[in-house]
Amino acid sequence: MAYLSLKEINKIYPNGYHAVHNFNLDIEKGEFIVFVGPSGCGKSTTLRMIAGLEDISKGDFLINGKRANEWGPQQREVAMVFQSYALYPQMTVYDNIAFSLTLMGVDEDEIDARVRKTAGILGLTDYLDRLPRALSGGQRQRVAIGRAIIRKVGVFLMDEPLSNLDAKQRVTMRSEIAQIHRSTGATTIYVTHDQTEAMTLADRIVVMKDGYVQQTGTPKELYFNPVNVFVAGFIGEPPMNFVRGRVENGSVAFGANRLNVAEKLGGKAAAWEGREIVLGFRPEAIRLQDPADALTVKAQVELTEMLGDNANVYVDADGSKAILKVTPHEIPEMDTELTFYLPKSQIYLFDGESENVIET
Ligand code: ADP
Repeated sequence: MAYLSLKEINKIYPNGYHAVHNFNLDIEKGEFIVFVGPSGCGKSTTLRMIAGLEDISKGDFLINGKRANEWGPQQREVAMVFQSYALYPQMTVYDNIAFSLTLMGVDEDEIDARVRKTAGILGLTDYLDRLPRALSGGQRQRVAIGRAIIRKVGVFLMDEPLSNLDAKQRVTMRSEIAQIHRSTGATTIYVTHDQTEAMTLADRIVVMKDGYVQQTGTPKELYFNPVNVFVAGFIGEPPMNFVRGRVENGSVAFGANRLNVAEKLGGKAAAWEGREIVLGFRPEAIRLQDPADALTVKAQVELTEMLGDNANVYVDADGSKAILKVTPHEIPEMDTELTFYLPKSQIYLFDGESENVIET
């Protein structure tokens, strides 16, 4: 039996807006789950229904197999870390972290032991006497996490906890959150619009769009086996390149290039003749030397970006654009023609209408 179970969960706000549709997910104890998707897709709404801060309009939420729809946040044993840290400005770090235990009437020796242990995990031991205003953004966020993890609850819910930090602090806090999860082993549900955060933190990712779950899977599953154009384009940076076109004589046009997809479509090739498909390939899948079994593409180099360990090459084939990832030693000259190769095994084909992957 799963620890947490969301069965056909729906949220219809009082104004009639249907924000979440038939959300299904089983979560095992200790898992790190990330809800990811563009702003407004229903991530926070789903998290808040799990927290007990928002009513569930339809469907069942189970904790250890028991229906918990009507339970309050206390009974659910969840702790939430918000985007705004919501620290008490007049209280020291120590008192902020201790606050919930003080409210519960836990005895002082135990509070002291737990505050010091929590501060140790979070690297806050030297800051316990400070007020929040004397801390950096990253340290404040750690205090907010400390307030949540000191409570020994079953589930941590985090809503965009890193969005108020600058880029460098975000990377540092991201690895700290991963370490905290490893050391506490606590079940965590984390909301973000950032695919990198999702990919680096999650055991499993739930990709959402317009209130619907698109796909649930491990970072690797989503990267290698996206079920549709949306997931394929959302996971990966730079995103997957897409070539949309009608299948004619078994191939689609990419500028003046004909990309033969008949072999990839196998027995279904005839059925796709004349229909629109989307061919996808990741920037990092291309080769500059012809590997066996690849499609050849010629395009103009528009722009190159040296990033250090790799480089992005923006190419244009008669108006059809793509981004290619190459090593720093392979950067071509701008405004020259470049020939590159797409290994057939690394091409994705989607139905042009439904945008779902074509199973071949
Ligand atoms: P996300 O967290 O993915 O950015 P939200 O869950 O916050 O998205 O919101 C999902 C959708 O529900 C949005 O279109 C938002 O405007 C709408 N929404 C959120 N809260 C309310 C509310 N109280 N009443 C009506 N609509 C809401």
